[in-house]
Amino acid sequence: MKYIGIDIGGTNLKAGLVDDRGTVLATKKEKIAQIHNAEALAWAMVSMTQELASAAGVPLDQIKSVGVGVPGTVEIHSGSLLYTCNLPLRNVPLRRLFHRYLHLPLYIENDANCAALAEYYVGAGRDSKRFVTVTLGTGIGGGIVHNGKIYHGSNGMAGEVGHMSIVHNGLDCPCGRKGCWEQYASATALKRMTREAVECHGDSILAQVVAENGGVISGQSAFIAARRGDAVGQAVCDEYIAYLAAGITNLVNIFQPDTLAIGGGVSNEDEECLLKPLQRLVARDSIPCPAEKKTKIVTAQLGNQAGIIGAALLGKKKR
Ligand SMILES: [Zn+2]
Repeated sequence: MKYIGIDIGGTNLKAGLVDDRGTVLATKKEKIAQIHNAEALAWAMVSMTQELASAAGVPLDQIKSVGVGVPGTVEIHSGSLLYTCNLPLRNVPLRRLFHRYLHLPLYIENDANCAALAEYYVGAGRDSKRFVTVTLGTGIGGGIVHNGKIYHGSNGMAGEVGHMSIVHNGLDCPCGRKGCWEQYASATALKRMTREAVECHGDSILAQVVAENGGVISGQSAFIAARRGDAVGQAVCDEYIAYLAAGITNLVNIFQPDTLAIGGGVSNEDEECLLKPLQRLVARDSIPCPAEKKTKIVTAQLGNQAGIIGAALLGKKKR
Protein backbone atom coordinates (compact mmCIF):
# COMPACT_ATOMS: atom_id res chain seq x y z
CA MET A 1 0.00 0.00 0.00
CA LYS A 2 0.95 3.62 -0.53
CA TYR A 3 0.20 6.74 1.48
CA ILE A 4 -0.03 10.45 0.75
CA GLY A 5 1.53 12.92 3.17
CA ILE A 6 0.85 16.65 2.95
CA ASP A 7 2.81 19.31 4.82
CA ILE A 8 1.36 22.82 5.17
CA GLY A 9 4.51 24.93 5.15
CA GLY A 10 5.11 28.66 5.31
CA THR A 11 5.49 29.07 1.52
CA ASN A 12 4.33 25.81 -0.03
CA LEU A 13 1.84 23.05 0.40
CA LYS A 14 4.10 20.02 -0.12
CA ALA A 15 2.74 16.56 -0.83
CA GLY A 16 4.47 13.22 -1.20
CA LEU A 17 3.61 9.68 -2.22
CA VAL A 18 5.17 7.44 0.43
CA ASP A 19 5.46 3.68 0.74
CA ASP A 20 5.13 1.46 3.84
CA ARG A 21 8.80 1.89 4.71
CA GLY A 22 8.59 5.67 4.64
CA THR A 23 10.35 6.08 1.30
CA VAL A 24 9.19 9.17 -0.56
CA LEU A 25 8.45 8.04 -4.12
CA ALA A 26 7.30 11.35 -5.61
CA THR A 27 6.56 14.88 -4.44
CA LYS A 28 4.56 17.89 -5.58
CA LYS A 29 4.22 21.40 -4.27
CA GLU A 30 1.84 24.27 -4.63
CA LYS A 31 2.20 27.89 -3.49
CA ILE A 32 0.31 28.49 -0.29
CA ALA A 33 -0.42 32.09 -1.37
CA GLN A 34 -2.87 30.69 -3.94
CA ILE A 35 -5.05 29.19 -1.20
CA HIS A 36 -7.57 31.75 0.01
CA ASN A 37 -10.28 29.68 1.62
CA ALA A 38 -11.08 26.31 3.13
CA GLU A 39 -12.59 24.94 -0.09
CA ALA A 40 -9.41 25.79 -1.99
CA LEU A 41 -7.29 24.01 0.62
CA ALA A 42 -9.42 20.87 0.47
CA TRP A 43 -9.40 20.93 -3.31
CA ALA A 44 -5.61 21.43 -3.44
CA MET A 45 -5.20 18.35 -1.24
CA VAL A 46 -7.53 16.32 -3.46
CA SER A 47 -5.87 17.38 -6.71
CA MET A 48 -2.34 16.80 -5.36
CA THR A 49 -3.38 13.32 -4.22
CA GLN A 50 -4.85 12.50 -7.63
CA GLU A 51 -1.88 13.91 -9.54
CA LEU A 52 0.73 12.11 -7.41
CA ALA A 53 -1.10 8.80 -7.74
CA SER A 54 -1.62 9.16 -11.45
CA ALA A 55 1.96 10.27 -12.17
CA ALA A 56 3.27 7.23 -10.27
CA GLY A 57 0.77 4.89 -11.95
CA VAL A 58 -0.79 3.97 -8.58
CA PRO A 59 -4.58 3.45 -8.69
CA LEU A 60 -6.42 5.49 -6.02
CA ASP A 61 -7.68 2.29 -4.35
CA GLN A 62 -4.03 1.45 -3.61
CA ILE A 63 -3.70 4.64 -1.53
CA LYS A 64 -4.39 3.64 2.05
CA SER A 65 -4.80 7.12 3.49
CA VAL A 66 -3.97 10.79 3.20
CA GLY A 67 -2.38 12.63 6.13
CA VAL A 68 -1.93 16.36 6.68
CA GLY A 69 0.63 17.99 8.97
CA VAL A 70 -0.30 21.44 10.20
CA PRO A 71 1.82 23.98 12.07
CA GLY A 72 -0.86 24.92 14.55
CA THR A 73 -3.80 23.41 16.36
CA VAL A 74 -5.89 20.56 15.03
CA GLU A 75 -8.76 18.41 16.22
CA ILE A 76 -7.66 14.91 15.27
CA HIS A 77 -10.95 13.09 15.93
CA SER A 78 -13.12 15.32 13.76
CA GLY A 79 -10.27 15.96 11.29
CA SER A 80 -10.49 19.73 11.66
CA LEU A 81 -7.88 22.43 11.37
CA LEU A 82 -8.52 24.91 14.17
CA TYR A 83 -5.68 27.36 13.69
CA THR A 84 -2.48 27.73 11.70
CA CYS A 85 -0.20 30.73 11.32
CA ASN A 86 0.42 29.88 7.64
CA LEU A 87 -3.13 30.30 6.34
CA PRO A 88 -5.86 32.83 7.14
CA LEU A 89 -8.26 30.01 8.01
CA ARG A 90 -9.93 29.06 11.29
CA ASN A 91 -12.03 26.04 12.33
CA VAL A 92 -11.93 24.26 8.99
CA PRO A 93 -13.71 20.87 8.86
CA LEU A 94 -10.99 19.59 6.55
CA ARG A 95 -11.95 15.92 6.53
CA ARG A 96 -15.57 16.71 5.66
CA LEU A 97 -14.54 19.06 2.83
CA PHE A 98 -11.99 16.56 1.49
CA HIS A 99 -14.58 13.77 1.49
CA ARG A 100 -16.85 15.76 -0.83
CA TYR A 101 -14.35 15.01 -3.57
CA LEU A 102 -12.41 11.93 -2.53
CA HIS A 103 -13.27 9.02 -0.25
CA LEU A 104 -9.92 8.15 1.26
CA PRO A 105 -9.27 8.12 5.02
CA LEU A 106 -7.93 11.55 5.98
CA TYR A 107 -5.85 12.17 9.10
CA ILE A 108 -4.76 15.53 10.42
CA GLU A 109 -2.03 16.16 12.94
CA ASN A 110 0.26 18.86 14.29
CA ASP A 111 3.41 19.06 12.15
CA ALA A 112 5.84 18.53 15.04
CA ASN A 113 3.96 15.35 15.91
CA CYS A 114 4.22 14.26 12.26
CA ALA A 115 7.99 14.77 12.36
CA ALA A 116 8.18 12.74 15.58
CA LEU A 117 6.13 9.92 14.08
CA ALA A 118 8.30 9.83 10.96
CA GLU A 119 11.49 9.59 13.01
CA TYR A 120 9.85 6.97 15.22
CA TYR A 121 8.90 4.72 12.31
CA VAL A 122 11.79 5.11 9.91
CA GLY A 123 14.37 7.53 11.34
CA ALA A 124 16.30 8.13 14.55
CA GLY A 125 13.66 6.45 16.74
CA ARG A 126 13.05 3.30 14.74
CA ASP A 127 14.59 1.04 17.40
CA SER A 128 12.83 2.82 20.28
CA LYS A 129 9.45 2.37 21.90
CA ARG A 130 9.50 5.58 23.91
CA PHE A 131 10.68 8.45 21.80
CA VAL A 132 10.80 12.23 21.95
CA THR A 133 11.77 14.65 19.19
CA VAL A 134 12.68 18.27 19.54
CA THR A 135 12.85 20.43 16.40
CA LEU A 136 14.94 23.58 16.60
CA GLY A 137 13.60 26.14 14.15
CA THR A 138 11.90 29.53 14.39
CA GLY A 139 10.54 28.14 17.66
CA ILE A 140 10.98 24.71 19.24
CA GLY A 141 8.54 21.98 18.27
CA GLY A 142 8.21 18.69 20.07
CA GLY A 143 6.58 15.32 19.69
CA ILE A 144 6.19 12.49 22.17
CA VAL A 145 5.64 8.95 20.89
CA HIS A 146 4.86 6.13 23.28
CA ASN A 147 4.56 2.58 21.94
CA GLY A 148 3.65 3.81 18.47
CA LYS A 149 1.14 6.38 19.62
CA ILE A 150 1.58 10.13 19.67
CA TYR A 151 0.88 11.47 23.15
CA HIS A 152 -1.84 14.11 22.66
CA GLY A 153 -2.93 14.95 26.20
CA SER A 154 -6.59 15.47 26.95
CA ASN A 155 -7.11 18.09 24.25
CA GLY A 156 -4.62 17.29 21.48
CA MET A 157 -2.22 20.03 22.49
CA ALA A 158 0.49 18.06 24.31
CA GLY A 159 4.11 18.23 23.23
CA GLU A 160 4.58 22.01 23.22
CA VAL A 161 8.04 21.60 24.69
CA GLY A 162 9.20 25.00 23.42
CA HIS A 163 6.93 26.72 25.93
CA MET A 164 8.30 25.20 29.11
CA SER A 165 9.79 28.08 31.01
CA ILE A 166 13.46 27.62 31.87
CA VAL A 167 14.11 31.17 33.13
CA HIS A 168 11.75 32.57 35.75
CA ASN A 169 10.66 36.06 34.64
CA GLY A 170 12.85 35.66 31.58
CA LEU A 171 12.33 36.88 28.01
CA ASP A 172 8.79 37.50 26.75
CA CYS A 173 7.31 34.79 24.55
CA PRO A 174 4.44 35.26 22.04
CA CYS A 175 2.54 32.56 23.95
CA GLY A 176 2.10 35.11 26.76
CA ARG A 177 4.59 33.61 29.17
CA LYS A 178 8.11 34.64 30.12
CA GLY A 179 11.29 32.60 29.92
CA CYS A 180 10.06 29.95 27.48
CA TRP A 181 12.73 27.51 26.29
CA GLU A 182 12.31 28.53 22.65
CA GLN A 183 13.35 32.08 23.52
CA TYR A 184 16.77 30.63 24.47
CA ALA A 185 17.34 27.50 22.42
CA SER A 186 15.56 27.88 19.05
CA ALA A 187 17.47 28.78 15.88
CA THR A 188 15.96 32.26 16.27
CA ALA A 189 17.47 32.54 19.76
CA LEU A 190 20.87 31.38 18.50
CA LYS A 191 20.80 34.10 15.84
CA ARG A 192 19.82 36.71 18.44
CA MET A 193 22.73 35.68 20.70
CA THR A 194 25.06 35.81 17.70
CA ARG A 195 23.83 39.30 16.75
CA GLU A 196 24.35 40.58 20.28
CA ALA A 197 27.89 39.17 20.35
CA VAL A 198 28.71 40.76 16.99
CA GLU A 199 27.41 44.13 18.23
CA CYS A 200 29.66 43.94 21.32
CA HIS A 201 32.71 42.52 19.54
CA GLY A 202 32.96 44.17 16.14
CA ASP A 203 36.60 43.09 15.76
CA SER A 204 35.99 39.39 16.45
CA ILE A 205 36.35 36.51 14.00
CA LEU A 206 32.60 36.06 14.51
CA ALA A 207 31.96 39.56 13.13
CA GLN A 208 34.24 38.66 10.21
CA VAL A 209 32.30 35.40 9.55
CA VAL A 210 29.06 37.38 9.41
CA ALA A 211 30.62 40.02 7.12
CA GLU A 212 31.84 37.23 4.78
CA ASN A 213 28.23 36.02 4.62
CA GLY A 214 27.08 39.40 3.29
CA GLY A 215 26.24 40.64 6.78
CA VAL A 216 23.67 37.86 7.24
CA ILE A 217 23.67 36.14 10.62
CA SER A 218 22.85 32.45 10.36
CA GLY A 219 22.51 29.63 12.85
CA GLN A 220 25.95 28.49 11.67
CA SER A 221 27.88 31.76 12.15
CA ALA A 222 28.90 31.15 15.78
CA PHE A 223 29.90 27.54 15.08
CA ILE A 224 32.02 28.56 12.09
CA ALA A 225 33.78 31.23 14.18
CA ALA A 226 34.34 28.79 17.05
CA ARG A 227 35.98 26.29 14.66
CA ARG A 228 38.34 29.09 13.57
CA GLY A 229 39.40 29.45 17.19
CA ASP A 230 37.29 32.51 18.03
CA ALA A 231 36.57 32.93 21.75
CA VAL A 232 33.53 35.13 21.04
CA GLY A 233 31.99 32.53 18.71
CA GLN A 234 32.79 29.78 21.20
CA ALA A 235 31.12 31.72 24.02
CA VAL A 236 27.91 32.03 21.94
CA CYS A 237 27.98 28.28 21.19
CA ASP A 238 28.60 27.43 24.87
CA GLU A 239 25.74 29.64 26.05
CA TYR A 240 23.36 28.30 23.41
CA ILE A 241 24.22 24.66 24.15
CA ALA A 242 23.79 25.26 27.90
CA TYR A 243 20.25 26.54 27.30
CA LEU A 244 19.54 23.68 24.91
CA ALA A 245 20.77 21.20 27.52
CA ALA A 246 18.57 22.75 30.23
CA GLY A 247 15.40 21.90 28.29
CA ILE A 248 16.64 18.53 27.03
CA THR A 249 17.55 17.53 30.60
CA ASN A 250 14.02 18.46 31.73
CA LEU A 251 12.55 16.28 28.99
CA VAL A 252 14.85 13.37 29.85
CA ASN A 253 13.97 13.62 33.55
CA ILE A 254 10.24 13.80 32.86
CA PHE A 255 9.83 11.23 30.08
CA GLN A 256 12.95 9.03 30.33
CA PRO A 257 12.55 8.04 26.66
CA ASP A 258 14.74 5.36 25.03
CA THR A 259 15.82 7.99 22.52
CA LEU A 260 15.51 11.74 22.19
CA ALA A 261 16.24 13.15 18.73
CA ILE A 262 17.10 16.73 17.88
CA GLY A 263 16.09 18.03 14.47
CA GLY A 264 15.96 21.30 12.56
CA GLY A 265 18.76 23.16 10.78
CA VAL A 266 20.89 23.67 13.91
CA SER A 267 21.06 19.90 14.45
CA ASN A 268 23.11 19.51 11.25
CA GLU A 269 26.04 21.15 13.03
CA ASP A 270 29.23 19.16 13.48
CA GLU A 271 28.84 16.42 16.12
CA GLU A 272 31.90 17.56 18.07
CA CYS A 273 30.56 21.13 18.24
CA LEU A 274 26.92 20.47 19.18
CA LEU A 275 25.84 16.90 19.94
CA LYS A 276 28.83 15.80 22.04
CA PRO A 277 28.88 18.85 24.36
CA LEU A 278 25.09 18.60 24.65
CA GLN A 279 25.30 14.90 25.57
CA ARG A 280 27.92 15.70 28.22
CA LEU A 281 25.77 18.40 29.85
CA VAL A 282 22.63 16.23 29.83
CA ALA A 283 24.58 13.28 31.30
CA ARG A 284 25.97 15.56 34.01
CA ASP A 285 22.64 17.18 34.93
CA SER A 286 19.99 14.50 34.45
CA ILE A 287 18.88 12.24 37.28
CA PRO A 288 21.53 9.52 37.73
CA CYS A 289 20.60 6.24 36.09
CA PRO A 290 22.52 3.11 34.98
CA ALA A 291 24.44 3.74 31.75
CA GLU A 292 22.56 1.09 29.75
CA LYS A 293 19.22 2.65 30.70
CA LYS A 294 20.15 6.23 29.88
CA THR A 295 18.24 8.10 27.17
CA LYS A 296 20.24 8.21 23.93
CA ILE A 297 20.50 11.77 22.63
CA VAL A 298 20.86 11.69 18.84
CA THR A 299 20.21 13.85 15.80
CA ALA A 300 17.09 13.40 13.68
CA GLN A 301 17.66 11.63 10.36
CA LEU A 302 14.91 12.61 7.97
CA GLY A 303 15.57 16.34 7.52
CA ASN A 304 12.78 18.41 6.03
CA GLN A 305 11.06 15.35 4.56
CA ALA A 306 10.03 14.27 8.07
CA GLY A 307 6.83 16.33 7.81
CA ILE A 308 5.62 14.60 4.63
CA ILE A 309 6.69 11.12 5.77
CA GLY A 310 5.08 11.49 9.20
CA ALA A 311 1.84 12.87 7.76
CA ALA A 312 1.72 9.95 5.33
CA LEU A 313 2.35 7.36 8.04
CA LEU A 314 -0.47 8.71 10.25
CA GLY A 315 -2.59 6.07 8.54
CA LYS A 316 -0.01 3.27 8.87
CA LYS A 317 -1.26 1.77 12.12
CA LYS A 318 -4.23 2.31 14.32
CA ARG A 319 -3.23 5.30 16.43
ZN1 LIG B 1 6.09 30.49 25.17
